[in-house]
Amino acid sequence: MLSNEKPEWDYSVFWKEALQQIREELSEQEWIMWFNNIDYEESRQNVIVVSVPSAFYKDQVKQRYLKLIETKLSELSGANITLDFVIKKNPQHKLSQPTEKQRLQAGSETPTRQIKSLPGLKEEYTFKNFIIGENNSFAANAAMAIAKNPGTAYNPCLIYGGVGLGKTHLIQAIGNAANEAFENIKIVYVTAENFTNEFISAIGDKKIHQFKNKYRNVDILLIDDIHFLENKGQTQEELFHTFNALYDANKQMVFTCDRPVSELKNLMDRLRSRFERGLNVDLKPPNFETRFAILKKKAENRNIRIRDDVLELISRNITTNVRDLEAALTKLMAYSDLLGKEVTVEIAMQQLKDTFSSPKQSNINLEIIQRVVADYFNLSHNDLRGKKRTKAIAYPRQIAMYIAREITEYSTTEIGLEFGGRDHTTVMHASQRIEAKLKADPTLEPLLKSLISKIKESGTKT
Ligand code: ADP
Ligand code: MG
Repeated sequence: MLSNEKPEWDYSVFWKEALQQIREELSEQEWIMWFNNIDYEESRQNVIVVSVPSAFYKDQVKQRYLKLIETKLSELSGANITLDFVIKKNPQHKLSQPTEKQRLQAGSETPTRQIKSLPGLKEEYTFKNFIIGENNSFAANAAMAIAKNPGTAYNPCLIYGGVGLGKTHLIQAIGNAANEAFENIKIVYVTAENFTNEFISAIGDKKIHQFKNKYRNVDILLIDDIHFLENKGQTQEELFHTFNALYDANKQMVFTCDRPVSELKNLMDRLRSRFERGLNVDLKPPNFETRFAILKKKAENRNIRIRDDVLELISRNITTNVRDLEAALTKLMAYSDLLGKEVTVEIAMQQLKDTFSSPKQSNINLEIIQRVVADYFNLSHNDLRGKKRTKAIAYPRQIAMYIAREITEYSTTEIGLEFGGRDHTTVMHASQRIEAKLKADPTLEPLLKSLISKIKESGTKT
């Protein structure tokens, strides 16, 4: 055929197919985190051009997935296709970093502007001060990406995890970092509790307009501890509308919660689905190495010298969360300050004796709960773990599941697995049944209390 037109390259089909295959190989979280925001742009000879939200994103995707993607593309097409990245231009995105020129026009002599700290944010809650371990790297990376590109990549983002694992630190680090990076950016940080209180007084004072103004005209809204909203229907309703307004305007929202949103009780479904819409990432307790690194960093930040063997002792014995680790460190510092003595391992052991042996540190595992509850009902521990659904077994099983949710940090999924591979919804359902029964049957509460104290006793003995 005679034609001097250039051949048209179109690899979009291969791109789509490759993505589909990759999606099956990755976890949902990974997929959402790294692939949701890559867009196909065009094909050139042996090259696919894709766009991503930022340079940071590009580096991360290249590091993690470039080989995988290119291999897939080559397999599918039979040609050697490579990827080329461009950074998305985002016209709706109004935030801009100040240019050198703007700074000079603003008349400031120093190249860096004065950064005002934000109300409610602790200055030391920065990414620099946040130690990344395998327990939190996903959440921390997401948080950093958000601070660099608010409103684009992961919106909304929900960070969840137990007490003292760094939720407040991370959500505030997003605020601090974005505040530093972008001039004139509007960032509001609030706890769900204060949000609720402000909302209630706004209604009382007929200042609802101001309230809406405050929360619907921001670039970044950070709401800490949304589990506080359980049972607060009217506030949930208000947040729902706030959410929609911000979402439609591509404004960034970040929330924290002490458990997965699916486990919140008395939360409007439509709000729940909003929270679940974006990226949900969890924080787990740190492992030994991370605990050690955190203590080292905290000691360094406070300018104190504590011997490594002492830090190791604390890291080995305090496994619950970072807050408890810090409390132990503070106690030792106070001791060494007061007495002007260096803390040795012996002193540390003595000073932290109670902390180390507190019931929280002992691992109450699900088996202990099953054994104590089974014992009380004259069943075997395997009955509770089994499949049988007779009433004589189902009720004690519900009680054991309820207790597991009340006194351990296990998720409903983990609890379900230990109870005969049941689904997490079964665990939630069991909990709800017992809660309902607690209201109706006054003898149940004392029974639960005595079971729980037996469980705790057995937990500390082992
Ligand atoms: P949460 O809000 O989840 O209850 P916080 O964010 O208040 O927990 O964290 C409790 C303390 O532990 C804070 O002082 C915080 O700085 C510290 N912390 C938590 N995780 C880390 C980490 N990975 N690196 C450094 N400090 C941490
Ligand atoms: Mg917190």
